[in-house]
Amino acid sequence: MSTGSPPTSAPRKSMPSALKLDLHAKCSTTKARASTLHLPHGDVPLPIFMPVATQASLKGLTYDQLKQTGCMLCLNNTYHLGLKPGQAVLDAVGGAHKLQGWDRNILTDSGGFQMVSLLKLATVTEEGVRFLSPHDGSPMLLTPEHSISLQNSIGSDIIMQLDDVIATTSPDHQRIHEAMERSVRWLDRCIDAHKYPDRQNLFCIIQGGLDLDLRKKCCEEMVARDTPGIAIGGLSGGEEKQSFCQVVDTCTSLLPDHKPRYVMGVGYPEDLIVGVALGADMFDCVWPTRTARFGNAVVPSGTLNMRNQAFAEDYGPVQEGCTCTICRPKQQGGLGVTRSYLHHLATKETVGAHLLTIHNVHYLLSLMGSARQAILEDRFPAFLREFFGKLYGEKTNIPSWVVEALRGVGVDLMVD
Ligand SMILES: [Zn+2]
Repeated sequence: MSTGSPPTSAPRKSMPSALKLDLHAKCSTTKARASTLHLPHGDVPLPIFMPVATQASLKGLTYDQLKQTGCMLCLNNTYHLGLKPGQAVLDAVGGAHKLQGWDRNILTDSGGFQMVSLLKLATVTEEGVRFLSPHDGSPMLLTPEHSISLQNSIGSDIIMQLDDVIATTSPDHQRIHEAMERSVRWLDRCIDAHKYPDRQNLFCIIQGGLDLDLRKKCCEEMVARDTPGIAIGGLSGGEEKQSFCQVVDTCTSLLPDHKPRYVMGVGYPEDLIVGVALGADMFDCVWPTRTARFGNAVVPSGTLNMRNQAFAEDYGPVQEGCTCTICRPKQQGGLGVTRSYLHHLATKETVGAHLLTIHNVHYLLSLMGSARQAILEDRFPAFLREFFGKLYGEKTNIPSWVVEALRGVGVDLMVD
């Protein structure tokens, strides 16, 4: 087992890959990319937003409904699946695709983040993450090897390394440094433990907090390990948006063109679009589905709370022109759901949350689709102006972090 020695970028055995990235276009101004990611369960257009199906189900949606949103790749949580139904059942059934009846792609997290964020008593040692079972309080240990073994049983198309996750807002620089180096050592253990590199793609996770030098060092170490895909982790933990952008920008500049880049835990529309401009390809977040459960619809101008009395007699769709199943008129094969009906449901019935979940996931997928089309046609800067114009109205309302991040990649939203 590895000790606490610093990682080195000594060459390792080359990793097989079960994916292929076809890079179709790069924006001639920003760092945005349009590509197709070929995965074992179908092709995924990038950039992409991936909804989170925590317990092998997107809360409130059947898999047919999830398919109707156009989703080609969703997330499952290893921590939840490992607890229930558990590894023995997953092995017996033949993995999460079969368990769920989902024949498109699945990405699983390592389980580590769930533990550190959900369990107060989780502690990290070189061996792994120690925690107490939420079932019976008995001591348990999640090692890099165990995380990969669970993800091998789940059979997800993309699996994530176990990493040492520290809040970006932590003042303990020494601990952030240690977590970055430990994440590299744990990647080596994950690579060695991975049984099915021919059909499951292991992604490394770049750590290093908000320290750009640590991030650079981590990029160098991770890239040398040649995993099929690369994630930028540890963000969306309450840090300043400006710092978030600097980290993403710094990392993407050091990553190879031919591998997908996944920024973890990002889901607000403005964060996704800035992330794309900074050269990231994949994003995930529970926010669009969680906010649906609070009655919120995500639309180009922001979010609308359907509980608001103003919608009681509004007979239009959630979003004019939206092609999702709930907004599309009945004559066009949709449900033709009105804001008024959602207002009525949102206050009483869970079906309101289901309908909004469908719209919200569809909205983010179609937003990413529009961004992709704009990159392909090399008019992404114009797309940025239109998107932020609709979201914030007046130029002066656009947050300064957005303006600065986009200026850094050659687009000035303040100038027409
Ligand atoms: Zn809709």
